[in-house]
Amino acid sequence: MSRTAPPAAGDDPRRRIPRTDALLALEEVERAKQRIGEENVRELVREAQDRARAGEIAPEEVEGEVLAALENTRVSAFTPVLNATGVIVHTNLGRAPLSPQALEALEAAAGYVDVEFDLETGLRGKRGVSTREALLKACPTAEEALAVNNGAAALSLIATTLAGPGAGERREIVLSRGEMIEIGAGFRLTELIESTGPVICEVGTTNRTHIADYEKALGESTAAILKIHASNYVIKGFTSAVSVAELAELAHANGLPLVVDIGSGLFSPEPLLPDEPTLTEALEQGADLVLASGDKLVGGPQAGLILGKKEWVERVARHPLARAMRADKLLLAALEATVGGPTPPVLEALHTNPDALKARTEALAGALRARTHEPCEVVPHDGRVGGGGGAEVPIPGWALQLPERLATELRGLERPIIATTRDGACLIDLRCIPEFEDDELVSAIAALLKR
Ligand SMILES: *Cc1c(COP(=O)(O)O)cnc(C)c1O
Repeated sequence: MSRTAPPAAGDDPRRRIPRTDALLALEEVERAKQRIGEENVRELVREAQDRARAGEIAPEEVEGEVLAALENTRVSAFTPVLNATGVIVHTNLGRAPLSPQALEALEAAAGYVDVEFDLETGLRGKRGVSTREALLKACPTAEEALAVNNGAAALSLIATTLAGPGAGERREIVLSRGEMIEIGAGFRLTELIESTGPVICEVGTTNRTHIADYEKALGESTAAILKIHASNYVIKGFTSAVSVAELAELAHANGLPLVVDIGSGLFSPEPLLPDEPTLTEALEQGADLVLASGDKLVGGPQAGLILGKKEWVERVARHPLARAMRADKLLLAALEATVGGPTPPVLEALHTNPDALKARTEALAGALRARTHEPCEVVPHDGRVGGGGGAEVPIPGWALQLPERLATELRGLERPIIATTRDGACLIDLRCIPEFEDDELVSAIAALLKR
């Protein structure tokens, strides 16, 4: 029950504050209970009453205040945004947007589902068999596949299986100094690996590592050779690195596995990103285990993909920690639908035809000029893969150029539009925005331009 209004003199306005039970009985409030839960509703009611008691609003405003607050309350605080940056796998904006097929699969998997149940026999089934099949179909070179929570989980699970506390005397993982990478938010792959038990045996230099460096490093305590794709930088100039094929030969001659972390997860070569490694090529060249993220260029949900030789993938899957990193039904469903489905949004965005992008941007600029009489120009603007893929590779495109102040104002919209700024202008890149949003985009921008 609500606190009663404090005792007050005859015409104290606080006596007119609506009672909790009266507010809770309102039809809209009843409906909101279904949507956001009774506890949240009661809290909003209390807050409005408190504001009236404190004199911040009139007692007559309490009801309106409650209704407005209910309208704006959601059980998930995530705000869907339009990505107008031209950065396709934008880490801060949730990396890969899911395809409609993946969304459908997510919804189907959200309830009770046969994720680990054999409908024919009525007995327990093997978890995620169809996702495993989809991965193997997408990468026929792989003998076995396992999906875990994310790329970092895949790497740590592999590292600890091969060279962690349970691995006996062999505790060293050999890695080139040119591949000791840090990705967003201070996340260093070497620190992650070492935290699971192995010791990193650094070889070569930042710019040049030779096969002889690896040969010299191998010994009694070597557990594996690791090659990591430097996802977010390139080493240019006087450089050399050892290929997967050469490393595989060396590893196998010494009875060791070769692990390759390709980062972004392309299954097959992408002409627009010629330097981006692929799962298939790494395996063809002899890697025993390859790993990648599911929500970079694969374009699916956050996931870690582990593919490779049966013996090694099975060993990784049997490690006790595999259970702590296992993929949930939602991940499995969305991943299967992405890998087995049509081209996902990230690859669509990558392949956007620059001429079509220009025409679309010009149409938008024309519509804005007609509505606002403001100069809205179309300027060249390179897109990026982002999120640790296609480092330094510009993807030619176009953007709408607006006054700089709009960048902040667009972020403040109910459906925020995230633009970039350059040389004192706000740039809207349509590459990552579905075309059906264009009308809404014009209205939103026009309203701000007219202010
Ligand atoms: C992104 C990345 C990871 C980490 O993957 P998450 O899915 O973000 O956990 C690991 N290795 C490389 C090379 C990467 O690019």
